[in-house]
Amino acid sequence: MADRPDYDVAILGGGLAGLSLAVRLAELPDLRTLILEPRTGYARDRTWSSWRLLHHPFAEAVTASWAHWEIRHRDTGGRAGTVRQTSAAMPYQMIPSDRLWQVAEARLRTAPQIELALGRRALALQEATDRVAITTESGTVTAGLVFDSRPPEGGPGDLVQRFVGQEVATAGPVFDPGCATLMDFTVPQLPGVVHFLYVLPTSPHEALVEDTWFAPAGAALPDSRATIRSYLAERYGVADYRVGFEEQGAIPMSPDLQAPRTTGRVIPIGAAGGALKPSSGYGFLTIQRMADELAAGLAAGRRPAPFQPRGRTAQWMDRVFLFALQQRPDLAPDLFASLFAQCRPEPLIRFLHDVGGPADVARVVAAMPKRPMIAAAAGMLWRRTASP
Ligand SMILES: Cc1cc2nc3c(=O)[nH]c(=O)nc-3n(C[C@H](O)[C@H](O)[C@H](O)COP(=O)(O)OP(=O)(O)OC[C@H]3O[C@@H](n4cnc5c(N)ncnc54)[C@H](O)[C@@H]3O)c2cc1C
Repeated sequence: MADRPDYDVAILGGGLAGLSLAVRLAELPDLRTLILEPRTGYARDRTWSSWRLLHHPFAEAVTASWAHWEIRHRDTGGRAGTVRQTSAAMPYQMIPSDRLWQVAEARLRTAPQIELALGRRALALQEATDRVAITTESGTVTAGLVFDSRPPEGGPGDLVQRFVGQEVATAGPVFDPGCATLMDFTVPQLPGVVHFLYVLPTSPHEALVEDTWFAPAGAALPDSRATIRSYLAERYGVADYRVGFEEQGAIPMSPDLQAPRTTGRVIPIGAAGGALKPSSGYGFLTIQRMADELAAGLAAGRRPAPFQPRGRTAQWMDRVFLFALQQRPDLAPDLFASLFAQCRPEPLIRFLHDVGGPADVARVVAAMPKRPMIAAAAGMLWRRTASP
């Protein structure tokens, strides 16, 4: 075995987490870095949306921005209502994945110490005292440190966020590009699941429309494309439209799936490192924080410890929230509407991304409907005490 490993750092997976970290490592010319990515090229496969909460290197990949957003719901009497929030300081923003790849690839081209190996998959890892051997289809490479963003192993857990999104173009102007609909609960509901539509209008003629469910793993759900068709007809009076890009996903909503896969010289990152918030599926900004922290450790010459995406309070609140959603999915519209109606946007946005301070947490707790949350906390405690 040679004295030095082949690379100082290997990143397994050139997806969001892998490229986010690599772009930061482009600032460290002495760190020989290899990225292994099975895809042979990048095409758009998803859209990241989130609020403008912190600086990150992909600002130029933002294609649309909304200073207003709304939650549409029905109250217990069946009356439709809309909760609107506005924040010029923290608008909601959209980044199509192909735009992010372009920004990342352009940055990596200027960093000769980083090798992006497309079409190459990590098959197995073997850790030794001073290096990790990575088996790929075309031989073994070694690295001093491995950041592993390969999809997490194991099942999806009890509850899954499933969604199908379509970018639609209509003949007439029907959308309001000034306001994003984060959740529209006025759509047909089914017992035992949470269902809403999500609409990001990018012009009066175009929008990304997503049919979203929080449902038990394996639940049979109605066809999302048909649901989007009926929704466009009912809300906007649109019968004919073109579908361009389409995306879909299934994100586990279990707080128990956060355990890192390995320790030592293999550090899990991205979804594999627990970055996706179990109660919402948001991960973009947490992955940016993760990349900043890990790169700062490497820049200081340290072997970074695995990033902890959220503290104990946030984990506990996620558990209670998910327990409440599982026990009483019918209360979800009121719960979200109350949260967005009662809490100012900025504390809520910080809380939703696990960077809220105690004052933010207190504001969010005050905005939550008390009875279902207390019932969920008590039910969770009871289940834990009762289980052997
Ligand atoms: C359709 C979709 C939409 C989403 N929208 C949002 C959103 O709007 N906002 C938000 O905050 N979050 C969103 N998320 C959640 C989250 O931000 C994304 O899943 C994000 O891409 C996670 O980043 P990652 O790097 O962990 O995983 P990925 O981006 O999936 O990257 C993992 C990479 O590992 C590679 N890989 C797989 N196997 C191997 C192997 N054996 N060896 C090496 N590499 C391998 C894959 O090819 C892939 O490139 C969305 C998720 C999906 C699926």
